[in-house]
Amino acid sequence: MKAIQFTGKGEARLADLTVGDLPPGHALVQVKAAGLCHTDIDVLHARYGDGAFPLVPGHEYAGEVRAVAEDVTGLRTGDRVAVDPNLPCGACPSCRKGLSNLCRDLKAYGVSHNGGFAEYSIVRADHLHGIGDMPYHIAALAEPLACVVNGLDSAGLRNGARMPEHALVIGAGPIGLLLALSLKAESTQNVAVADINEDRLAFAAELGLGGIVSGAAELTARRRSYDFVADATGIASVAEGMIDLLADGGTALFFGVCAPDARIAVSPFEIFRRQLKLLGSHSLNRSIPDALDILRKDGGSMARLVSHQLTLEEILPFFTRKPTDPATMKVQFAAP
Ligand SMILES: [Zn+2]
Ligand SMILES: [Zn+2]
Repeated sequence: MKAIQFTGKGEARLADLTVGDLPPGHALVQVKAAGLCHTDIDVLHARYGDGAFPLVPGHEYAGEVRAVAEDVTGLRTGDRVAVDPNLPCGACPSCRKGLSNLCRDLKAYGVSHNGGFAEYSIVRADHLHGIGDMPYHIAALAEPLACVVNGLDSAGLRNGARMPEHALVIGAGPIGLLLALSLKAESTQNVAVADINEDRLAFAAELGLGGIVSGAAELTARRRSYDFVADATGIASVAEGMIDLLADGGTALFFGVCAPDARIAVSPFEIFRRQLKLLGSHSLNRSIPDALDILRKDGGSMARLVSHQLTLEEILPFFTRKPTDPATMKVQFAAP
């Protein structure tokens, strides 16, 4: 089968690989759609995970079941599925607390195990979730959206919780927009999006997101205005700026992936005096089914985040070259 393969740090190629045997408890999935995400680039440069080369990347994917191991029940050939890529150990303190995303030995398809940028992928059957008749390119958004769900859970903003009146998401890339659209879907009244790129902001407005904030100066003018602010840029100085944007009693979510050695300055007095909440959220925590629910209810705005549907050959350069076109949102491998 054809696959994208990372052969070493910074080295990606199109490879011809054998599919391999189907171990007990596993299913063979014909990949129909797989999304590219910044984590893939970090995996390529061994900045995320252990640098388990050679590796087929891709942790955001959906496809059709082509075979199941003999001992697998509840899953059949022909089933349409989305993958939960996380492989927690199940035994460490975090796993026992139900925080599988914080497993101290967390593995994942596309990070430590071969993932979705291939014609086929062998996946544990209990990591497959039925998608019904949902189009594959939408189902492949379930993984990043499940990360958003985990972020909203971390902030206590789901399932009828008291939603913020004014929310702001900084960074209008695919994950920032998924977060903003989810806040809207959870009935946050005013969801603003900030970015320095006008094209991305225009696209956010097209998706029905209001309160567009363009650039640092406009942001500064809105200090202390938001009950909830999330950083989806992963730029430490932007994340630091969230605190000043929070209204008293507000919540800041550190959602973007900042450099591990980056530091920000925070006034503990201000957190105390203004009763602020600073929260983190990492990856997804068995939240693919919740994400699929949101996608089912979404009126097509999330699907519009898929800007490219490419073959494996066409997607290869995206691993090594940063796209310069601001209209590039979610880039996906789409099986012909
Ligand atoms: Zn991702
Ligand atoms: Zn664990």
